[in-house]
Amino acid sequence: MKKKLKVIVTGGAGFIGSHLVDKLLENNYDVIVLDNFSTGRKENLKHIKNKITIIECDLSKTNNWSKYFNGTYAVFHLAALADIVPSITDPENYFKSNVTGTYNVLEASHKYKIKRFIYSASSSCYGIPDDYPTKENAEIKPEYPYALTKKMGEDLVMHWEKVYKIPSISLRFFNVYGTRSRTSGTYGAVFGVFLAQKIAQKPFTVVGNGSQTRDFTYVTDIVDALMSSMSSNISGEIFNVGSGKTISINYLVELLKGEKVFIPKRPGEPETTFADIDKIKNKLNWSPNISIEDGVKKIITNIDYWKDAPVWTPEKIDKATKVWFEKLG
Ligand code: UDP
Repeated sequence: MKKKLKVIVTGGAGFIGSHLVDKLLENNYDVIVLDNFSTGRKENLKHIKNKITIIECDLSKTNNWSKYFNGTYAVFHLAALADIVPSITDPENYFKSNVTGTYNVLEASHKYKIKRFIYSASSSCYGIPDDYPTKENAEIKPEYPYALTKKMGEDLVMHWEKVYKIPSISLRFFNVYGTRSRTSGTYGAVFGVFLAQKIAQKPFTVVGNGSQTRDFTYVTDIVDALMSSMSSNISGEIFNVGSGKTISINYLVELLKGEKVFIPKRPGEPETTFADIDKIKNKLNWSPNISIEDGVKKIITNIDYWKDAPVWTPEKIDKATKVWFEKLG
């Protein structure tokens, strides 16, 4: 029997990471997950825990986790802190996780001569873009520490690619949604907020007038882009990963069905996110498969996952986002 290729997924217990692990197992890879379980959940890997190796470790500190890179074919570096508000109140933690963590993972990859390195970057690097759909060569304008630290991680990856010849790709994800997209308590991405509100039969807290649009990209399409990046021999390139469409929050509410309550527009937020995906279509032969209508249906089927998630009201959001308005306003 052919020997299985060993692959490391940092942040493999998280939302995107755990879906990637599922796909890697389906494709017969030997998977090692490195996660500190700060926002990742054991529950996300429960169904496959006997089929993978799970190492609980802190990537911002070098210790004996790097030995797992020995003999590893590919590294998917997804471990990071997300969410805007905590990145404003605690930038040091974001720097440690997203910058120092990436540096340490790159150094381990360099030491053990990893064959493919795939970085999960964020479309938040474009800030409030000048052009839509937004191309990879658009101006970089991070609006808050989360966006900045993810971009710094990407810069490290591209530099290590150039200097130490680690074959690498960076994927800039646009508004990823899907099952397991729950946050662990903080006020975060819109799907987690809306789904908990739906279960509690509370109105959806719509920012502004809800006409702003987002390029919501379904998690399995993101996973396909990650897999294509591993199979490709392209290196040193950055690709947007988006759905090919942008939809309004009002339309999202129509799909989710429920009442609305309006809350203030937040500083530093773009009216639109919309990826130009020509580059990844042409060079990696990837394209998105899941429409927003189908994606929302899939989520609704699994809505129980959000049943203990915090239910956000306008008052709670007002309190939780004070620092956002103060610092970025
Ligand atoms: N949004 C909303 N209500 C919320 C949270 C978010 O209407 O309670 C909107 C927000 O204005 C944005 C979209 O949902 O247009 C996506 O927000 P998220 O924070 O998920 O991502 P980002 O703004 O970083 O693209």
